[in-house]
Amino acid sequence: MKTLDTDYLVIGAGTAGLAFTDTLIGQSDAHVTIVDRRGKPGGHWNDAYPFVTLHQPSAFYGVNSLALGSGLKDSHGLNAGLYELATGAEINAYFDRVMQHTLLPSGRVAWHPMCNMIGDQHFECLLSGERTRVNVRRKVVDAAYMGPSIPATHRPRFQVEAGARLVPPNALPGLWHSLGQPSEQAPLPRHFVVIGAGKTAMDTALWLLGAGAPASAITWVKPREAWLVNRITTQPAPEFFFEAIGGQADQMAAFGAATSVDDLFLRLEACGALLRIDTSRTPTMFHLATVSTAEVALLQTLHQVVRLGHVRAVAPGQMRLEQGDVSLPPDALFIDCTASAVEPRPVQPIFQDGAGGPLGKIVLQMVRLPQPAFSAAAVAYVEAHEDAYPDTAAKNAVCATVPFPHSLADYPRAMAVGMQNQFRWGQDKALRQWMRDSRLDGFGRLMSGIDPADTARQAVLARYKASAMAAMANLPRLLAPAG
Ligand SMILES: Cc1cc2nc3c(=O)[nH]c(=O)nc-3n(C[C@H](O)[C@H](O)[C@H](O)COP(=O)(O)OP(=O)(O)OC[C@H]3O[C@@H](n4cnc5c(N)ncnc54)[C@H](O)[C@@H]3O)c2cc1C
Repeated sequence: MKTLDTDYLVIGAGTAGLAFTDTLIGQSDAHVTIVDRRGKPGGHWNDAYPFVTLHQPSAFYGVNSLALGSGLKDSHGLNAGLYELATGAEINAYFDRVMQHTLLPSGRVAWHPMCNMIGDQHFECLLSGERTRVNVRRKVVDAAYMGPSIPATHRPRFQVEAGARLVPPNALPGLWHSLGQPSEQAPLPRHFVVIGAGKTAMDTALWLLGAGAPASAITWVKPREAWLVNRITTQPAPEFFFEAIGGQADQMAAFGAATSVDDLFLRLEACGALLRIDTSRTPTMFHLATVSTAEVALLQTLHQVVRLGHVRAVAPGQMRLEQGDVSLPPDALFIDCTASAVEPRPVQPIFQDGAGGPLGKIVLQMVRLPQPAFSAAAVAYVEAHEDAYPDTAAKNAVCATVPFPHSLADYPRAMAVGMQNQFRWGQDKALRQWMRDSRLDGFGRLMSGIDPADTARQAVLARYKASAMAAMANLPRLLAPAG
């Protein structure tokens, strides 16, 4: 068996693993070995549907040392007037570049694609079966814990009866392959059933409409309604200061004044932070999916919405759901958008001491929502500065895991931990400076660069600070009972 030595063994070459490694090698002289069972860097983006894009601006996604995208705003389409959203192809090319032009040339990163980890210290090459033992001098980094479930590799939880045509969204742009085939083998569908209520389903419905399917040819199965983040509040540029930082101040004010979780979400909607597609229904889901108002308006043109719970079975021309059956055109194409980008996983401390051995472990999770790239880079900064954070407790004190909200009631708890982290970072001069210089911290830079003579913007900052204090005071009232 081969053996190799390294300081850090990073499991997963997705956004989290690469953002962590990029900052770690920039802040220390550590050697890092990265292992991934996929053949290319970029994690789940390698298998994403062809029309996927980021849902938040490219400006603060990726690794710290290399900008993603051109820094331009879109001039047309559903994101017009807002900063560009990298496509899946762009993200994959970007991460390839990060690996080939930044990480590997450092001479301190080893990359092992097509290798599956077995336990904490061995990996197996998927193509040769050869096993390698890794002698880890410092820590094993689990950079796969936040990985999403995606349509291409997900198995639906409902039955697919003989003759039903069920595809992931990945297959849609390839429907033209049916041209020239005998029509009984692969008829072009004229009706589309989008199954799922999350961002993938929204992307799919928008793609179908944009590619020419009439709204009347789309049935949307939505077991739940979602609250959505208004993308204008995520723009990390000075011309959006009032929407972005003013929006943060408004959100803090909502947290400060809310009398219940339901009241909180209505206040967040009233101040323009959140949107919903069907304003006659109260959403029960909030996964921080981010959309533009133009996307919401287009999705509101879909009127064949099935709200009968989750799908139990699909069959040609028919669908069985928890609360009833639905008849459909016999050639309807079912599109499975039920993979969850945010699988519920137990929250763990990010920094962990080795159980009974010398090896410590880092389990990458969010320290700020919903920012996996910023979070992984911030964790790497803390790990690299042993002088300031000498032990696991000191490290976790500035990197508390922000739990991803899986219900509306979870959101105040996530906000409480996020604000606690933010408060600690504010007290830590060196860490605060690193964040201000980091391209991944879009808002920090926006807030720190305000001219003292700019009274309008200074007033927003003052309102933000006052509202944050009020939010902290009111959060205990909004926190769901533990458990
Ligand atoms: C459609 C979509 C759009 C998104 N848009 C945004 C956005 O705009 N902004 C934003 O901040 N976030 C966005 N996110 C969320 C977030 O950026 C991504 O989910 C993030 O890329 C997750 O990266 P990851 O590295 O944690 O996981 P992954 O990309 O899943 O990477 C983990 C890697 O670990 C590997 N792995 C797992 N187990 C093993 C093992 N045992 N051995 C070897 N390898 C292993 C996997 O093969 C995988 O490549 C989006 C997510 C989705 C799904």
